[in-house]
Amino acid sequence: MDRILVIDDSAVQIEFLNSILKNDYEITMCQTAADGLRAAKEGGYSLILLDVVMPDMDGFTLIRELKATDLTRHVPVIMITGLADIQYEERGLLLGAVDYIAKPFSPVIIKARVNTHIQLYRYQNQFQEQALVDQLTGVANRRRYEAESAARWKDAVRFGQPFSLCMFDIDKFKVYNDTFGHPAGDRVISAVAKEVSAHFRRATDLFARYGGEEFVAVFVGGDGQSAFEFLKEIRQAVEDMHIPHDPSVGSWVTISVGGVTLRPKAGDSFDTYLKLADTMLYDAKRLGRNQVVWSDGGKGQLLEK
Ligand code: GH3
Ligand code: MG
Ligand code: MG
Repeated sequence: MDRILVIDDSAVQIEFLNSILKNDYEITMCQTAADGLRAAKEGGYSLILLDVVMPDMDGFTLIRELKATDLTRHVPVIMITGLADIQYEERGLLLGAVDYIAKPFSPVIIKARVNTHIQLYRYQNQFQEQALVDQLTGVANRRRYEAESAARWKDAVRFGQPFSLCMFDIDKFKVYNDTFGHPAGDRVISAVAKEVSAHFRRATDLFARYGGEEFVAVFVGGDGQSAFEFLKEIRQAVEDMHIPHDPSVGSWVTISVGGVTLRPKAGDSFDTYLKLADTMLYDAKRLGRNQVVWSDGGKGQLLEK
């Protein structure tokens, strides 16, 4: 059930709105702007109904605050007021309200408008999610990777955390397509993505399809040695899926992995280390594939085979 936050200083008004909407939505009621703001920032609401005139803070100030906060910016706000004045309506809409309802209002209109905006909010969320998901595999896509890796990198710089970055590439995949066909190749890409992504369980892990049969992962914490061990397990897990490859290549579909662990400092460039991870991947291919090659961020290298 979608959650709606109602912020209105009048107990009568709030109870009236609650009685209209409570059968279809989970309603949270706040009688001061300060409480309302606190509740909104806890997240999870699909719509906010906001009274304009309240003693502690007016609705315009509150909506400005909501629109300036990342977590609440996208939540639609309907302004509710007794001020049946066109100027107020304009002001509310200019500040980012999606709609405006003047008191006294009819339950039917309230319901209809609320339903419409909840529906639009769902579509918007679906659309945004889809735009960040790779359609074939269901894992994060390149766009999400670009946006999130930059944010993780910044955090790692700020908190002085170890940061790992790695690239994966399915071995001799052109041969796989040539032998088994492109649709079968697609299924393998999907299955490998599912297996590998299942290992990245932490909230701060990011695993994405980089393009074609290549993937990328970013994660924080742990030293180079532990990252290397972790990736060896993942590489082995893919081999253990026992997806038959063309016999000229080997028994099973395998991946090569190249990565780096470092403590990024201000001024370090993410791209430099992405290139370094790619160089490690190149080395893994050159040394015979189905292996992990890891860098300590400098000249040191960990080799699996
Ligand atoms: P290597 O071990 O050196 O990585 O060899 P490779 O054949 O995997 O590398 P190469 O880069 O030459 O070829 C990658 C192949 O991956 C080319 C293409 O046929 C296949 N491929 C890329 N994207 C897709 C996709 O979305 N679906 C399928 N089925 N195949 C893809
Ligand atoms: Mg490739
Ligand atoms: Mg490949």
